This record gives sequence, structure tokens and C-alpha cells, in this order.
Amino acid sequence: MKFGGTSVGKPERMHHIVSLVSKETEPAIVVLSALSGTTNALVEIGNAIAKGDRNAAKQTIEKLEAHYQAFIKELVKSEDAYNKARSIVAEHFEFLNIILKISFSEALNKDILAQGELLSTKLFCVYLEEQKIDHALLPALEFMSIDQYDEPQIGSIKVKLTQLLNHYPGKKIFVTQGYICRNARGEVDNLKRGGSDYSASLIAAAINASVCEIWTDIDGMHNNDPRIVKKTVPVEQLSFEEAAELAYFGAKILHPASIWPAQMYKIPVKLLNTMQPEAKGTLIVEEAGSVGVKAVAAKDNIIAIRIKSSRMLLAYGFLRKIFEVFEKYRTPIDMITTSEVAVSLTIDHSVYLQEILKELEPFGTIEVDENQVIISVVGNEIAQTTDIIKKLFGSIRNIPVRMVSYGGSPHNISLLIAAEHKTQILQQLNKGMFGLE
Ligand code: ASP
Ligand code: MG
Repeated sequence: MKFGGTSVGKPERMHHIVSLVSKETEPAIVVLSALSGTTNALVEIGNAIAKGDRNAAKQTIEKLEAHYQAFIKELVKSEDAYNKARSIVAEHFEFLNIILKISFSEALNKDILAQGELLSTKLFCVYLEEQKIDHALLPALEFMSIDQYDEPQIGSIKVKLTQLLNHYPGKKIFVTQGYICRNARGEVDNLKRGGSDYSASLIAAAINASVCEIWTDIDGMHNNDPRIVKKTVPVEQLSFEEAAELAYFGAKILHPASIWPAQMYKIPVKLLNTMQPEAKGTLIVEEAGSVGVKAVAAKDNIIAIRIKSSRMLLAYGFLRKIFEVFEKYRTPIDMITTSEVAVSLTIDHSVYLQEILKELEPFGTIEVDENQVIISVVGNEIAQTTDIIKKLFGSIRNIPVRMVSYGGSPHNISLLIAAEHKTQILQQLNKGMFGLE
């Protein structure tokens, strides 16, 4: 059972999830994020120290500490529990204050980032103890690890976690940190922002769990972006493939990497709502459940690059040469379309854009369009349902489309549009594809 930042972000929310967890009949591993806002503050602290602005870092540390002081006052009632919580907060903020005084390194920055999950889980356990709920804390740094390519080592995670669990026969509630891990050098590291979902899925895979529950504050994956479109509905069931496309192409509810461990070890994933625990949510399993369009998602800040060259005509090896440039700069390509004399592709970050463009120059004329959005229409066997294409293009008639990717997967049709049309296209698709306004 994984709970995100907002689910533990207020003392009353933490109380609420303890009531959810203690209702479980099966043994459960509870994976927690940091309290909402904490990781952002820790990123800020790290950035300030890296820049040598210790005053700014100190101010952010003080503000964050005050937040935790207020939090624990509401979290627990007894003096004993309060004292325990206070010494946990003191310990972690002492650590941050010591860091202020030593020279900055990337490894140290990872230590800073780890404080959020360490704090949330320890405070959660203090509250469990006050409520006399039997539990054990499993330190993620003792079993969660990544290799030199930042890939989780599922085999080793499995062995170490099983060993840890063997120390607690008969125990029903376990608590652990999401997001944090150890890297190949044995240092504290993390699974990247939003990585607690990934932790949960890796843990579920490692122990062959009956289910991996991701608890957030929305009742499952919705058919469209609820922040942009008025009426959206939760999707009841998705296949792993559909869920992976949606998570990757912009649905904010699930970390994209968290699908593969569950898929590989065939662990059903449920997206559930802490505020509405009886709601069905979304079930992600092997089978799609039904045929047709399930949802649309948008991925922002996309850059499109077009390479035009008459030399591409009848040439082989041309695409390979282009791809090699992106490989060299470790920049993944999302969408790609080709004609006989040109190829268009998209990337989602501009870290190496200038270097990439320079190396592409000899291949022909290069055009770059920034500020694009990928709109993905995801569903089961949608590519075989001709009606869907008609409906799709019928509903967005007035919007210029820069690229279309169709047939790459039977579950996805992607369109590239300029960012200014995003709201409009999502609204029109909601009406045209789902009959919702
Ligand atoms: N606390 C981390 C973050 O905010 C990990 C997570 O919440 O999943 O990115
Ligand atoms: Mg978070």
C-alpha cells in the first residue's frame, strides 16, 4: 500500500491512512512518500548549497523545521509519543544543519533529498505505536538498490527484503520509505522524482504481493485531465500496456517506470482514493477488459525536430546515423514520423539540444519547433477500429496537427500539436471520443 505526499501531508490525513491500513486483513507493506512540499523544499536546499547561498538554504531549513514542529503537535497526543517525535525531527534537522557547514557534493545532495521519506516513515511509526498498532519499520536503504546504470536490482532487492521480513514472523504491518535507495557505490540515492510508486511496484514484485495498491487523492486514472476538462470519469480497468502508455504520455497519477515490475511479475495494480476508499478506482492487470478508447493524456514541453534531405531518398543507414546522435547525448526520442525525404521526431528535454542540432546539421536542413505537446489517445486495439480515426479527426477538425503517430502500438495514437491548442484539443476530444462535456 503506497501513500503519496498529500495522503500523509497533514496530521489528520496520516491518522486517516492509519485507519485504512489497520483495517487490512492480509499483511501489508506500507510505502510512504515524504510529506507534501518536503521534497521540493529539500531540492531547494540542495540547490542553494550548491550555489554557495548558505543563507537561503538555512532559511528554507528553518521554515521546514517549523512545519514539522507544528505537524507533530497535531499528530500525537501523549507526552511520550510527542517527545519521541520531537527527537526524530531534531535529529534530522541537526543533520541538515551540519550539511550546511560541509562542502557540497552530488552524494551529499542525495542525502539531503532522503530526509523527507526518513522523516515521514519514522513519524508514522510513532503514531502507530501511540495507537498500540503492532508494526515494524523496514529501512529501504537496507534492501532497495540500483546498479551503475540507475536500474533497480530486482534480484538483490528480493533476497534482502525477504531476509528482513524473516525477522518478523507473524507481523502484519510493515512500514518503509518510497523513493530512496542505495546506488552501486553504496551511497544513498533515489529513484527520481515521484519514485515512490516505483518503490511500491518493485517491492510488490519482490515479495510476489497479491496486489500493489497506489493510494492518492483521486479515484483512479481518469479518461482525461481533470485539471483541464470539466467532466472526466475514472477508467475501471487498463492493461499494463495501456497504463504504461498513459503514465508515460502525461497522466500524472502514476510514475511511468512503476508499470514494468508489476507487469513482469504479474502483480495487479490498483489506483485508489484515500478520501473515498470504497470507490472502485482503476485496476491495472494483464487484460485490457474491453475494446476501444480508454483515455487521453497530454505530455508538455516537447521539442520537435525535422531533418529534411534529398540524400535520404532511397538511402539506407540514414535513420541510424540520425539516431546515433541522440544516443550519444542520451536523449530519448518519443515520437517519430518519416516521409521519403524527411524525418520528424520529438524529444522531451533540451539539455543537449544545441549539441544535437550541431551534429545533425550535415544531414540536411533542420527545423526545430519548441513548445509542443503530445496528445496520446490510448485504448485497447484502437488501431483496428476504423471508426475511432474518423471520430478522432472529426472532433479536432479546426486544430493544426504537426505530427501523427499511428500503428506503432495497437494501443496508442499520438498527435503533436502546439501548446496553445492543448486545452481546446483535450476538451474537444472529451466530447468527440467520450461523449462527455
Ligand atoms: N517524495 C518524492 C518526490 O516528491 C518521491 C515521491 O513522492 O514519490 O518526488
Ligand atoms: Mg511526492
